[in-house]
Amino acid sequence: MAYIEMVHSFKRYHMGDITITANNDVSFGIERGELAIILGSSGAGKSTVLNILGGMDTNSEGKVIIDGVDISDFNAKQLTDYRRNNIGFVFQFYNLVANLTASELVKNAADPVQTLVDVGLGDRIDNFPAQLSGGEQQRVAIARAVAKNPKILLCDEPTGALDYHTGKQVLRILQDMSRKRGATVVIVTHNSAIAPIADRVIRMHDARVKSIETNEHPMDIEELEW
Ligand code: ADP
Repeated sequence: MAYIEMVHSFKRYHMGDITITANNDVSFGIERGELAIILGSSGAGKSTVLNILGGMDTNSEGKVIIDGVDISDFNAKQLTDYRRNNIGFVFQFYNLVANLTASELVKNAADPVQTLVDVGLGDRIDNFPAQLSGGEQQRVAIARAVAKNPKILLCDEPTGALDYHTGKQVLRILQDMSRKRGATVVIVTHNSAIAPIADRVIRMHDARVKSIETNEHPMDIEELEW
């Protein structure tokens, strides 16, 4: 069994008489330490998958097995513990607290300075978010997410608000998290150009998984063009 297994998972939203099926019989596996990309256009159901994997939302039907444990049965307290102990989140809009410096923002890290050095911000430790570029702010957000060394790093359009070069720097950090630290990294994106860097590409369309491919030789970020 894979480290992450979503098995015949459905997510239904009820709006009055209408039922929206955001995930329709979604099944896939992701191995420990992989960088997986969930690819699909807007509305395909990607964020719904990510939120369920992260214990921020629950599915309507089906299993969500993480390291052998089905979290779809968890109550709110168990989900909170699960998130706290296992998950780091990186979002498109990084929402940093304005009046804390970079090192204060990652102060729960075992070594805040080293964590910032790891994401290339060694010279930005005492800067406030307003003094940082968008790419630097996203790197602080990643440093926050990786500070506690999460087993699973979940990223929703992490390069969506960034220009080409800073987007590549951010992908470099995320690929290193899987390759060097052994974290399982899941990136949700509509940008198919970044698929070659993944160990596994899960394509979604219209609430369903359309295909799953594995890359024997994922591309290094430096070789990537889009
Ligand atoms: P993606 O991340 O691929 O853009 P989402 O997972 O955000 O797709 O959304 C999938 C579908 O579920 C969309 O049709 C969206 O409108 C719907 N949806 C998502 N969240 C909710 C919600 N809280 N209530 C109702 N519908 C929702």
